[in-house]
Amino acid sequence: MVREGPLSLNEKPSIDAAIASAVSQLQDSSESPRLDAELLLARTLDVQRSYLFAHPNDEMDSAAAERFDNAVVQRADGMPMAYITGIKEFWSMPLIVSPVTLIPRPDTETLIEQALGRIPRNAEWEIADLGTGSGAIALALAKERPLCQLTATDRSEDALAIAAQNARELGIPNIEFVAGNWTEPLAGRAFDVVVSNPPYIASDDPHLMSLRFEPLDALDAGDDGLDAIRNLASTAATILKPSGSFLLEHGDAQEEPVAAILQDNGWQDIGLIRDIEGRPRVTAAIRP
Ligand code: GLN
Repeated sequence: MVREGPLSLNEKPSIDAAIASAVSQLQDSSESPRLDAELLLARTLDVQRSYLFAHPNDEMDSAAAERFDNAVVQRADGMPMAYITGIKEFWSMPLIVSPVTLIPRPDTETLIEQALGRIPRNAEWEIADLGTGSGAIALALAKERPLCQLTATDRSEDALAIAAQNARELGIPNIEFVAGNWTEPLAGRAFDVVVSNPPYIASDDPHLMSLRFEPLDALDAGDDGLDAIRNLASTAATILKPSGSFLLEHGDAQEEPVAAILQDNGWQDIGLIRDIEGRPRVTAAIRP
């Protein structure tokens, strides 16, 4: 990749000059070049963003300049901010993320809200999060319902390690992490609520290209994008108590096939919930 700009000519740029150079490099690849540049520089220097505005003429040492330069090159290449900084805010929690986990989306807060609406504050329930990734859903529910016990599964041991690290860093004790595919490692258990944000994008969906830095197996769900949902619809009832709730995140054009799949598997009270932008996002059902 060809690089230009004052940074490569000046090993000890001022904060202002470093930001200006980064903004020009990020012009084509980011929708928010200045914000990204500032966040990356604040992260590189381990300071608040406000520090940058208060010290525009401070010189950076060359090691910091080089680290910043590398981060800007990654961003210019399209890498999501969360993978460069290693952190994504979700449900007011700073979550550690890495390329082995999906980056938590604000969309998923719809699933959290719906689950919380079904779990009384004083409940001491057992709740399962299937395919937990960074642990975002399990962590939010465990934090909001400290009397409940969460069980989070993922078939990726690497993802589970990140999720467990998040629980430790956030001091959230009421989650158990179990390696395995969907419901498989939980056979014989009986939960009050089961939630999941499974992969739900079709293998040939061009949208996958824009998500190329994220783990494909957390996104790609076969020819019609419904493979994981079919699996969950046919197995989640086996780990639910009678009348237990199942909540599933899905794509905004999947409302009808998801309802049909759940119906075919005998689920009751199937209901669609839209996200804050009014798009179909979550379907809830009661154990058959
Ligand atoms: N909502 C994510 C996206 O489109 C996909 C998440 C998923 O497949 N579970 O960008």
